[in-house]
Amino acid sequence: MNDRFSKILDSIPPSGIRRFFDLVLDAKDIISLGVGEPDFITPWKIRSAAIHSIEKGQTTYTSNKGLEQTRKCISDYLTKRFKANYDYKEEIILTNGVSEGVDIALRAILNPGDEIILPVPSYVCYSPLIRLSGGIVKTIDTSHTNFIPEPTEIEREITDKTKAIILCSPNNPTGTSIPKEQLKGILEIAKKHNLWILSDEIYAELTYDGPYTSLASLPGAKDHTLLLSGFSKAFAMTGWRLGYLAGPQEFIKRALKIHQYSALCAPITAQTAAITALTSCISDVESMQESYKARRNLCVAKIKEMGLTCAPADGAFYIFIDIRKTGLDSETFALNLLNEKKVAVVPGTAFGKEAEGYIRCCYATNLSDLSEAMNRISDFVKNKINK
Ligand code: PLP
Repeated sequence: MNDRFSKILDSIPPSGIRRFFDLVLDAKDIISLGVGEPDFITPWKIRSAAIHSIEKGQTTYTSNKGLEQTRKCISDYLTKRFKANYDYKEEIILTNGVSEGVDIALRAILNPGDEIILPVPSYVCYSPLIRLSGGIVKTIDTSHTNFIPEPTEIEREITDKTKAIILCSPNNPTGTSIPKEQLKGILEIAKKHNLWILSDEIYAELTYDGPYTSLASLPGAKDHTLLLSGFSKAFAMTGWRLGYLAGPQEFIKRALKIHQYSALCAPITAQTAAITALTSCISDVESMQESYKARRNLCVAKIKEMGLTCAPADGAFYIFIDIRKTGLDSETFALNLLNEKKVAVVPGTAFGKEAEGYIRCCYATNLSDLSEAMNRISDFVKNKINK
């Protein structure tokens, strides 16, 4: 029977986050800090633009690349907000979320046996998608470098098979951004060894302690950068399935070939609404960012009060708590917390074995629930740690 399915696929375990979701679905009265999703509804102006577009009968396919006007707005937005310059005609395509962007970027560059350097812990999709594209994952453990990938450690993993490095800043699950100096160092390595860098910047709008540096804004970066971003997090549009991929023309041509066969185009309603998002809703993004920042501050303060520490929490909406002082492993901690205190978190190990001893809490939940959840976590750890 197993011969009827892909061997690579069968060797990939199901997502550890999903497993916890399933447990939570069955539980009652729990506060979930599990799901990595904004608690905001998409801003009204964006929803209204979508409704209007459907009313006008805009229900067709678009060009494979996506609507020209949406791409132009993305190009202007990237220049204005992140000093990243991409030509909307040749260097940007719209995808079904960043998820599809990662998949087609990998498929466009990998040959069987090529290696990709992946700093871990990492977002869950990279490793399976690398393997499904015939690539080999070479991890570097960031847990001993404050969850920031160090250029020297990346360079140590490079072989003649290395094709690319994946960066995600701010990061899921850690909430940590890569400082400009490290980014520059990693870029120099990519230039020296002629590698691509897949830069997942989906949380770029959600940073709290200083300006964000997009890899694509650094001098000489464009030839090596495959920029991935989208609307899910910053614009609270997870269900609309819209992202984009920006890169050199020769890369975009190839990525487009995969996209046109496997997806055809991104949803037209989402593409149309995105024009309104980019042209009229930056203030909504900024107020959501402020709200997340207040919640981040609350979590960091509570964790300190508990006598625990976390990864540098300067971005995204995750707090990655070091629970090793409790003597519990990540999975036992998460399961017992769910059973005893009815708070759902994700064990760090869902993001790589290197994250044993950590749990991920998503703080995109309302302040009173968040505060209650932190109190419950505090109660849970109280008798387990020596401060
Ligand atoms: N990249 C990162 C780092 C994420 O955290 C997520 C979703 O959680 C995605 C990509 C997927 O985003 P999208 O909804 O655009 O497919």
